[in-house]
Amino acid sequence: MMNSGNGRLPQVAYFCMEYGLDSRLPIYAGGLGVLAGDFLKAASDLKLPVVGIGILWRNDYTEQFINEEGWPYDLYPNYDFDFVKDTGVSVKVQVAGKEVTCKVKLVDQYGNAPLYLLDAGFEGSEEGWITRKLYGGGSSERIAQEIVLGIGGVRLLRALNINVDIYHFNEGHAVLAGIELIREKMAQGMTFEDAWQATRRQVVFTTHTPVEAGNEKHDHRELERMGAYNGLNYEEMRRIGGDPFNMTEAALRLCSAANAVSNLHGHTARTMWRHVKDAAAIISITNGVHVPTWQSEDIARAFIKGEDIWQPHMKEKMNLIKYVHEHTDARFNPEILTVGFARRAVSYKRSDLIFRDARVIDSLLKEKKMQLVFSGKAHPDDVEGKKIIRDLVLMDRKYRDAVVFLENYNMETARLLVRGCDVWLNNPLRPLEASGTSGMKAAINGVLNLSVVDGWVGEGPQHGVSGWLLDTHHDNINPEKQNLQDLQALYRVLIEEVIPTYYERRDDWLDMMRASIDMSHYIFSAARMSREYFELMYCRAACEGEKTAFLTAGGYLCNNRFRS
Ligand SMILES: *Cc1c(COP(=O)(O)O)cnc(C)c1O
Repeated sequence: MMNSGNGRLPQVAYFCMEYGLDSRLPIYAGGLGVLAGDFLKAASDLKLPVVGIGILWRNDYTEQFINEEGWPYDLYPNYDFDFVKDTGVSVKVQVAGKEVTCKVKLVDQYGNAPLYLLDAGFEGSEEGWITRKLYGGGSSERIAQEIVLGIGGVRLLRALNINVDIYHFNEGHAVLAGIELIREKMAQGMTFEDAWQATRRQVVFTTHTPVEAGNEKHDHRELERMGAYNGLNYEEMRRIGGDPFNMTEAALRLCSAANAVSNLHGHTARTMWRHVKDAAAIISITNGVHVPTWQSEDIARAFIKGEDIWQPHMKEKMNLIKYVHEHTDARFNPEILTVGFARRAVSYKRSDLIFRDARVIDSLLKEKKMQLVFSGKAHPDDVEGKKIIRDLVLMDRKYRDAVVFLENYNMETARLLVRGCDVWLNNPLRPLEASGTSGMKAAINGVLNLSVVDGWVGEGPQHGVSGWLLDTHHDNINPEKQNLQDLQALYRVLIEEVIPTYYERRDDWLDMMRASIDMSHYIFSAARMSREYFELMYCRAACEGEKTAFLTAGGYLCNNRFRS
């Protein structure tokens, strides 16, 4: 373990529904999972006492490809994951009155802290449906999955004899772990009230969802029928999560410390959950990315040595162009300004914004001022999202060598894109982006952000120095007005600033690339983020008796970092 001064760091069990460690282990859907994977890698680098708890999804989220008509369709390969280690341990949970056995698998080969995965889909199991599809199915499937993650997760820690000081719920999906912690204490003779308060001192919670509809709610009858009450009664469950049972509210009442994932999101989250009585306070810990995973080694070396970074940048750009050529019929030109945009296909991200004035975009593309590369997946059941992708594919077909859509967005394509573009475009409606992390991955590679001010961007790039900001007013203005203002700002900044700098002032461009790397490579790293989790959340929340020791250790950890 890391030298931690006079104190001991608390042992943390980190719960998350998805993990993005490597594209060969597809048990993630997007940003939440990649963040969890990056956190486990940083914890491993820094030798911090963290174990991850998750689910071995047999069918992935979706592998999504494009058909002749330009519509996305989904494939669900059945992975056997024989490279994931079997611990030989299994745990049992009750789902809808039936006993479900989950095998405990271990992943530690991606430079990550140990990740234990619950698997109900082993050969011979009749309950494989529960851990088949990440975010698939309806409310009862979701509750079953959350019983496995939360209740099964606590039981696997007991079965493996891992002594945990702090349980971290990364998003509300893990809330039933709190219910299991309460049940355990009541089984030892504590009252519900005492068990609840004692559990709160062991739990911290991170919220990621600034959109009301994204916060999961469950019907109490369904929760009870599925077995999520876990020995508690209606009144006790209602006091924790309300009626209907709101997973985020429940998490806020089951923890002693909570955080949002950027400073701006902190403001949004505190307003959003102000009405929840007896909730933990919400602080901000801005997300970060695992630099060794996402940063080009050539770029890093050139940056550190103060050497030319254009050459390594062009090497990354050529890798992207080669991939584009191999996977589409388009031939990109390495001399042309390349703008990337890869996001989940949801309407607030406005992936089509740049196309909304056909006259302007038409001339920019035809005069070869820039080329555009898009990627992203829609949720398999989301027709609106699939339409967004189809619209992008139609643009790809209309502007053959100037616009491409790369199908089946995953960590591998993300890596190529955030290293090989010149500019990373981000224009969601505000304030709907909690943090965003792909822009951080771009920034550490000297790929310049062109972005509205939301999420992490509020703390990151400076206009004209380390990126460009579409800094229009958005307080209390409706989406139509935001669309108009942002579209005008986007074209203005592109035409008056980004394009001239790229083609006419290459030295200024290189200065901006270096400023971008300098600005981002520590403060938007998962190393900084995981230190802050220890300092501001785990050590402070850790149990009474050892509080001072934990605080000393947390302070030591944070005073010995290389933050400027
Ligand atoms: C980084 C990453 C994300 C998250 O990107 P956002 O900017 O938060 O949308 C999603 N998917 C993959 C594959 C990633 O690598």
